[in-house]
Amino acid sequence: MARIALKVDVDTLRGTREGVPALLSMLSAVQADATFLFSLGPDHTGWALRRVFRPGFLKKVSRTSVVANYGLRTLMNGVLLPGPDIGRKAAAEMRAAAAAGHECGIHTWDHVYWQDNVRGRDAAWTRRQMQQAFDRYTEIFGAPPPTHGAAGWQMNDEAFRQIDAWGMAYASDGRGTGPYIPTVDGQPCRHVQMPTTLPTLDELIGVDDLTEENVHAHVLQLTEGSRDHVFTLHTEIEGGKLAPVFRRLLAGWRAQGHELVSMGTFYRAIDVGTLPQMPVMWGEIAGRSGELILQP
Ligand SMILES: [Zn+2]
Repeated sequence: MARIALKVDVDTLRGTREGVPALLSMLSAVQADATFLFSLGPDHTGWALRRVFRPGFLKKVSRTSVVANYGLRTLMNGVLLPGPDIGRKAAAEMRAAAAAGHECGIHTWDHVYWQDNVRGRDAAWTRRQMQQAFDRYTEIFGAPPPTHGAAGWQMNDEAFRQIDAWGMAYASDGRGTGPYIPTVDGQPCRHVQMPTTLPTLDELIGVDDLTEENVHAHVLQLTEGSRDHVFTLHTEIEGGKLAPVFRRLLAGWRAQGHELVSMGTFYRAIDVGTLPQMPVMWGEIAGRSGELILQP
């Protein structure tokens, strides 16, 4: 048996309003804890339509049916419709996650803007984006956020420094194999990175012979044994069309004897003094287009 941290990325207004309540009931049915990371500012999902012109994206769209998962209205936000302010319109659903006993934290201020720009932006831009999310989170929850998980696994040096400046003890901003202390310019950060260690459902479905019907068995194969994991799910996906798959995963993990925990619980079981220190790197992950933050 092992620990599996459930990291729930909340990307859109629709995912906050509809996906959060759906996931809360699925989690409570198996008494699982999770960490909900919110997008706190404008929903500019429609800007993502620009990605259609990028290599690799069309292949992914045809595999995973982006329109079916995200909904046409969500995809139009910020294109023909002004981007709605998620933190203003769906604070009640956000607070409901905390009221149900789950840990909450920051995913981003403006998902699409961050994901498409942060790698090349300077310290001032980065701090401004992050501080808007921090302030809105504090306004909604009445307390500062304990943790952060970057949108699209996109970061820059200043963003890692800001996690430290906020005094966060742990965050999950990239992909990798297990907890480590990131270094920036050769200096170790004061927080622990707990990378996502398992593939996401949208990275798997459509590859080889994996379908909505059998993908859970593939993930459950990866979680056999005693190795701890961080699994990232999305309110727009597992809280929507792929809810049946997520229910099968939860049941399977229970049958494997795993604890299903928040990032905070996962962190408290780590012996921080023994963790390796390493700089992050950029690279690709199978089934996902573009580069993201990886553990070397
Ligand atoms: Zn996201």
